[in-house]
This record gives sequence, structure tokens and C-alpha cells, in this order.
Amino acid sequence: MFSHHVDDGLMSVIRRNYELFALGFVMIIGLLLLLHAYRLRLIVSARTKQLKDAREKAEFDARTDPLTGLANRRCFLEVVNQNLEIIKRQQLELTLVYIDIDWFKKVNDSFGHAAGDVALKDIADILKKNTRAADTACRTGGEEFVIVCLEQEKAGSKFLAERIRKEVEEHVFHYQQQSFSLTVSIGVASFNGEETVEEVLHKSDSALYEAKETGRNRVQYM
Ligand code: GH3
Ligand code: MG
Ligand code: MG
Repeated sequence: MFSHHVDDGLMSVIRRNYELFALGFVMIIGLLLLLHAYRLRLIVSARTKQLKDAREKAEFDARTDPLTGLANRRCFLEVVNQNLEIIKRQQLELTLVYIDIDWFKKVNDSFGHAAGDVALKDIADILKKNTRAADTACRTGGEEFVIVCLEQEKAGSKFLAERIRKEVEEHVFHYQQQSFSLTVSIGVASFNGEETVEEVLHKSDSALYEAKETGRNRVQYM
């Protein structure tokens, strides 16, 4: 009886303030929808960032040598192609400083492959330390590295090559209780933009071959 009255009372209140209740109801629904949309936006933007980070990491990995952190062969070829285009339009020199470790197989044979890997990392660090902003240091093969230099005049890369040769010669490599020395042979070749990528690679390779043939631990310019 009593609750019937209360219900009647409530119903009449709702009936009298119908518009107010409807408005409140719509506002609550609207607010919930807004909150939901906001939550969705947060989820979508977090997911977008995850995908962007994953894509950037995949791109970085595809262009980086995992052992040394230097640019890999694929990245090297991209940089050479880009720079050949740049030097056609600007008064710049493209020089490749092509570095190969001397008798590296002996390091693996005498001290083990892990010692060889340590030496590769140390040499990569020497290259990183010596590269300037416009240079790209790359590991193009097992124990082969190239620094791609873009510069006003080629004198800079000649100093660079000689400095690297000397720093490697003076460096003492350590692996566990053992220490050893290494040297590198370096071929330096410059280009004016007329050459194809194949010619560029061939000329640097010839310079390096010449450095090896004429005694190793030296820099050959071409
Ligand atoms: P040269 O002075 O003529 O260049 O002699 P070399 O012994 O350096 O050249 P060779 O091409 O005969 O041997 C290269 C060696 O590099 C053989 C291979 O085991 C080693 N090597 C290549 N990649 C790696 C690597 O990632 N880690 C290690 N530890 N060794 C590697
Ligand atoms: Mg080699
Ligand atoms: Mg070698």
C-alpha cells in the first residue's frame, strides 16, 4: 500500500519533470559515449605508437650490422647511390675509404672466433670515433669496412685513412687473458659523379688490393 503510494509519487514526479529527466538521461549517455571515445582514442594512439616504433626498429635493423652497430652493406650501397647523386649537383668529393683487416683469419685460428668478434667491435669503435658528421662508417663484409666520405676536398679522407691505420696499429686488443695486435690495409678512391656504382666499387676494391699486394698495413690512394 505504502510502496504503491511512493511509486505513484515517483511516477508523478518523473511525469511532471519528464523533460528534465530526459535531458539528464541524454547527458549521461552522451558523457559515457564521450568517455568511451576518449578511451578508444587513447588505445588507438598507443597502438599507433607501438606500430611506428616497431617499424622504425625494423628499418634500423635492416640497415645495421648487429655485431658492430655500423651501417651494413645494404645501407652502404644506399648511401653511395645517394652521394653519387649529391656530388653531381654540388661541388663535393665522394671518397671511399675501404678497410680490410690484415691476416684476420690468424686471429680466429689463434685466439678463437669470439676474440675475432671483439677485435671487429674494437675496430668499429675506432672507425666511429674517427668519422665526421658527413661520413658513414659501414661494415660491408666479414672483416671489411668502408667509410663513405662526402667532403669539400679529398685531403680530409687521406688524413682520416692514415689516422685509422695508425690507431689500429697502436691498439692492443684484449680477449679474456690474451692480448694481441692487428693491422689494416686501406684503399682510398675518389669520384666525381661520372662513375657508376659498379665502377666506384671496383676502383675502391682495386685500391685495397694494391695496398695488400704492396705489403699490408698501408694506405693506397687511387
Ligand atoms: P688478408 O690480409 O689477405 O685480408 O687475410 P685475412 O686472413 O684477413 O683474409 P681472409 O679473407 O683469408 O680471412 C678473413 C677471415 O675473416 C676469415 C673469417 O673467418 C673471418 N671472419 C669473417 N667474418 C667474421 C666474423 O663475423 N667474426 C669473426 N670472428 N671472424 C670473421
Ligand atoms: Mg677480406
Ligand atoms: Mg683481411
